[in-house]
Amino acid sequence: MDTNPPAGGRTTFQPPHAMKALSFSDYGDPSVLRTVDVPTPPIGQDEVLIRVRACAVNALDIKLRRGDVPSPIDPPVILGADIAGDLEEQGAGTPDFQSGSRVVVNPRLFCGHCKYCLGGEQSACGQYRVIGVHRPGGYAQFVAVPAANLAPIPDWLSYAEAAAIPLTFTTAWRMLHTRARLQPGETVLVLSASGGVASAAVQIAAFLGARVVVTTSVEKAKRVEEIGAAMVITDDEDLESGVEEFTHGCGVDVLVQTQGGDAWGSTLALLAPLGRVVVCSAIQGGKVEDDLMPLINRQLAILGSTGGTPIDFARVWEQVVRRRLRPRIEREFALVDGAAAHQAFEQRRHVGKLVLTND
Ligand SMILES: [Zn+2]
Repeated sequence: MDTNPPAGGRTTFQPPHAMKALSFSDYGDPSVLRTVDVPTPPIGQDEVLIRVRACAVNALDIKLRRGDVPSPIDPPVILGADIAGDLEEQGAGTPDFQSGSRVVVNPRLFCGHCKYCLGGEQSACGQYRVIGVHRPGGYAQFVAVPAANLAPIPDWLSYAEAAAIPLTFTTAWRMLHTRARLQPGETVLVLSASGGVASAAVQIAAFLGARVVVTTSVEKAKRVEEIGAAMVITDDEDLESGVEEFTHGCGVDVLVQTQGGDAWGSTLALLAPLGRVVVCSAIQGGKVEDDLMPLINRQLAILGSTGGTPIDFARVWEQVVRRRLRPRIEREFALVDGAAAHQAFEQRRHVGKLVLTND
């Protein structure tokens, strides 16, 4: 396992036949996660084998572990969509990589030849899939991924920081930049701003030149302010009057909704004329009730958004490489302590990312 690949050129690294992975066979609480020995994944012609150094924990992982998804996947499951590591082996059909290159993985897969893919709208592809959901992910020592999904990690960025980017930051980038077409000087309201996509949205909105107001708990207020919020409305304060104060009675231009259900409230009434609400998940439920009159009279838009395209990922990664976006890492856990990481995630005291790491 510790065979050192030669420096430069195509690798001749011989991966071990077996590896450690954090896996589960039954849905349930974090204790279902077990460290197991499984075969090292074979790579296809267009794939590479990555030695996983860091894999971020996402709300998606928690939902999958609980079986709380529309079509649960067949166990045993290896989770983990947000992967950073070293390139160890490459298929015959892949371009030349430097052996041992530090790389991050865009986890999104698609068919590549439907009208949406050909039009650059891959997240609308009927074959849209995610590594760590539809095929084994990065909760392991090694993972096989398509070579086309790699991006190099600059020396100064840690594996944990790199692994914090692909899923949530790309989703938030698509919501704000691609779907809502956020403009400099506009105002953005991010509800429940400590969540994975929501906290990324705070950073991206601030980077794009918007003024950001957020809602969060009293205990998280300072940390959310530190990542780019100009004003924090805590859970014990009135949302409507807070927004009125922040926008001088105009309403916000863009509202980021990740909750749905009761948290929808009177979302449309909070928007300025020509305002947009952009929604990527409905954790509290998909059915909401609202008044359509503001939608009509103020010419508002409700925009659905899911995942991201290769261009969305490339644009957000470019901002990371230029040091304009940098994720906040709350805590790192060894892969074998993955159950503890899931417990910590479910306690929801964090603002930054929880990341599993391998030596
Ligand atoms: Zn397609």
